[in-house]
Amino acid sequence: MAKAEAQEAAAGEIISSDPATGREVGRVRKQTPDEVRQAVERSRQVFHMWKTTSFAERRRLVMRAREVILDEMESIAELISAESGKPKGEAIAFEIAPVLDLMQWIARSAEKMLRPRRVGIGLFGLLGRSSRVVYHPLGVVAIIPAWNYPFSIPLGEAVMSLMAGNTVVIKPSELTPLTGVKIGEIFERAGFPNDAVQVVSGAGETGAALVEAAPDKIAFTGSVATGRKIAEAAAKNLTSVVLELGGKDPMIVLADADLEAAANAAVWGAFSNAGQNCASVERLYVHESIAEDLTRRIVEKTGKLKIGPGSDPDVSVGPMSSERQIRIVERHVDDFREAGAEILTGGERRADTLVRMSVASTRTSANCEEASVGTDDLAGGTGDADRSVRAPLIFEPTVIAGATNDMRPMREETFGPTLPICTFVTEEEAIALANDTEFGLTASVWTRDIARGRRIAERIEAGTVCINEHLYTHGIGQTPWGGFKNSGRGRTHGLEGLLELVQPQHIHTNRITLLPDAWWMPYSPTALETFRGFATKFATGSMLKTATLLPQLWKRIKELRRG
Ligand code: NAD
Repeated sequence: MAKAEAQEAAAGEIISSDPATGREVGRVRKQTPDEVRQAVERSRQVFHMWKTTSFAERRRLVMRAREVILDEMESIAELISAESGKPKGEAIAFEIAPVLDLMQWIARSAEKMLRPRRVGIGLFGLLGRSSRVVYHPLGVVAIIPAWNYPFSIPLGEAVMSLMAGNTVVIKPSELTPLTGVKIGEIFERAGFPNDAVQVVSGAGETGAALVEAAPDKIAFTGSVATGRKIAEAAAKNLTSVVLELGGKDPMIVLADADLEAAANAAVWGAFSNAGQNCASVERLYVHESIAEDLTRRIVEKTGKLKIGPGSDPDVSVGPMSSERQIRIVERHVDDFREAGAEILTGGERRADTLVRMSVASTRTSANCEEASVGTDDLAGGTGDADRSVRAPLIFEPTVIAGATNDMRPMREETFGPTLPICTFVTEEEAIALANDTEFGLTASVWTRDIARGRRIAERIEAGTVCINEHLYTHGIGQTPWGGFKNSGRGRTHGLEGLLELVQPQHIHTNRITLLPDAWWMPYSPTALETFRGFATKFATGSMLKTATLLPQLWKRIKELRRG
């Protein structure tokens, strides 16, 4: 039974299970829609107090939360790994480390980034006017994340929201509920005020209840289909949304690229987190002159990867998160086969892995080495091989040659460990192939000619384009994260992400009140002539041209003063 289906079976609660073994990791109670509404109300009450706290106090608490995470780092990594299936090392390197970095950066920088600023207003300044923009928090930010980065994404968004003066309600994914609960505990232990960060547990209906409860902002991470539903529901309350959605990210390898680096990056970019990254390499376009060499290197490197449970430190590719997800991968690989592409390595679910694991064997397959797992790791932990209830959700890392853009799986997000390779001849063709998609989250260009790489990057329709790198920039909190096209709306991270979490207020001041404004009432032929001058002279922005308007302006002001 699919992990999600198993969870649905328990009324009123979610059972979280380890996708490597099926073993229960823990359970949480689902919140009712009424409880979700109450959580948002409590959040709004605390907001009125929290928004008045100083940046220094917010900074102190966020830095304290970092300490809590560091204290519990090993157990948090184990929890993330157990719920999501990713190797423990990935939980530390790609979730805990980046979010700790984001926390220290935003704690130290938010005050400066949100400092009131004077705005240049051109010739209006000569009339004794000035303008400032100040930033106000929004209120309650609802965070609805996916399961693939269950710690770093909601935690990072929560910290940015709090530093901006908002309060937060998080609805974690139903596949990783305990990691969500842990995030709540971290803020509590750090000493944040009660209800400044709340976690409500449940599946889609709980997320929908949170959207209906009219928070002041929704930060959603997940599929395009759910993103659409949330945007529609949010529109009823005019709640603004940031949508971080799916991807089908291209990697373009030009003929002059460093092939060894490109091969390593392709393997990591396609297979880390078992390919369940929104920014995974899902399409590799390589110049035909180096395609054979690059493909050989990728296949060799893939063959050395050890697959198995995320708790084994030697494992590079862990199980997928759910039956639903692995079925998509199977379907896509079948589609590739049927369309005439060649499966060079992998291509199968390790349906028999659990049985082999039960006899604690280590075996080298054609492409991958399997991890050895003792009998206690079986579902139920009974040590009895016959009690194996289901295979772990492992799909072999799969390299595919001869892919073309007209094959169906090149057009849909796979979100699994597949790496389809396609060749191109000209730069124009590579750009066209990369842009030939509804998605636009990230992309990469590989070349030794950095200027050429940048030129190509600017022509690719994606929110982030890396040159000689792929995938990892979500880990650079200072930079904006978000997609073009159906990959999303708005940004998280960076200045752009912080500005999503505040509302700007324009404060405009007039220091000269002795004279009436020339546009005030009553209107007259003199007013009309003056207004023509506004359009033809003042609106040019030219001081010289505006100077020629002064006699007319003075005439109009005298007229107004006469009453
Ligand atoms: P999903 O859309 O199924 O679920 C995401 C979240 O939405 C979950 O918490 C779920 O419970 C909740 N949800 C479901 N229906 C809802 C509704 N009607 N109202 C409110 N909430 C609802 O996505 P998923 O399977 O968890 O995640 C995989 C997707 O996330 C992939 O497409 C991946 O590319 C994307 N993703 C994007 C980014 C990014 O930064 N762009 C990052 C990670 C994952």
